[in-house]
Amino acid sequence: MSSTTKKEKDPYVSLICTQCEFFKEDDLLLECAAFKVLKKMLKKGRLKPEEIKDAFR
Ligand code: SF4
Repeated sequence: MSSTTKKEKDPYVSLICTQCEFFKEDDLLLECAAFKVLKKMLKKGRLKPEEIKDAFR
């Protein structure tokens, strides 16, 4: 059985939120403005997932 939570299975949450100090597995519906902006930029191809990963290194 995997230890991955339902929220962590969302690729945007996995990419952005799991690096965030405010991440809580049970806040399924909460999305901050930064998350929404980053998600929109990723969807539009203005940002690449690698650039998000690099920002957290
Ligand atoms: S929604 Fe925003 S505040 Fe919440 S965990 Fe994701 S990046 Fe952090």
